[in-house]
Amino acid sequence: MNLLDYLPGVPNFPKPGILFRDISPLLANPAAFKEAIAQMDILAQEFNYTHILGIESRGFIFGSALAHHAHKGLALARKPNKLPLATHKEFYGLEYGSDSLEVQQSSLPKNAKVLLIDDVLATGGTLIAANKLMRSAGFEVCGAITLLEISFLNGRQLLDQHGIANKSVLL
Ligand code: 5GP
Repeated sequence: MNLLDYLPGVPNFPKPGILFRDISPLLANPAAFKEAIAQMDILAQEFNYTHILGIESRGFIFGSALAHHAHKGLALARKPNKLPLATHKEFYGLEYGSDSLEVQQSSLPKNAKVLLIDDVLATGGTLIAANKLMRSAGFEVCGAITLLEISFLNGRQLLDQHGIANKSVLL
C-alpha cells in the first residue's frame, strides 16, 4: 500500500501556489489509517518517550491514535484561547500565515519525555514552536514525528538546526 495515494494534493489551497496534501482520503480508509499509525509507531519506537504532544488540529488525529496504539499519555497543543486553565504560549510563522500555540501548564507530569506529533512537516515553524512551548513549560522533548514531510521546504534542516530529532513516514 502506498500511503501517498491517500494524500492527494489540492492545488492553490489555502492560498495560490500552495499544493495542499489532503488527509481526508487516508482517514476514510481504515487500512490506510491503520498502516499510517503503525508506521508512525515504528519511527516513534526509536525515541524514549512517555507522552505525545498532539498539535491542533490534524496533529490531534494522529497524536491521539498513536498514543492509544502505543499506550502513551497525550497532551494537546491548542490554538489560542481554547484552554480553561493557566497556559504557556508560543507564537510562530506558517507556510501561509502566522499563529500561536498554547499548552495547559498542568497537562503533563514534570518528568514527561515528550514526542511531538503532527500530520505534515512543511517549513518546520509549527514543530519549532511546539518544541519551544514544551521547553518553556519545563518539559523534555525527545523529537518529532510527522506522517508526511514536504521535502522542498527544507523543514527538516531547520529542525536539525534547532536540535529537534525528527522523522517522517513519507517524503
Ligand atoms: P509548517 O509549520 O511546518 O510550515 O507547517 C506545518 C503545519 O501546517 C502542520 O500543522 C500542518 O497540519 C499544516 N500543513 C502545512 N502544509 C500542509 C499540507 O499540505 N497538508 C496538510 N494536511 N497540512 C499542512
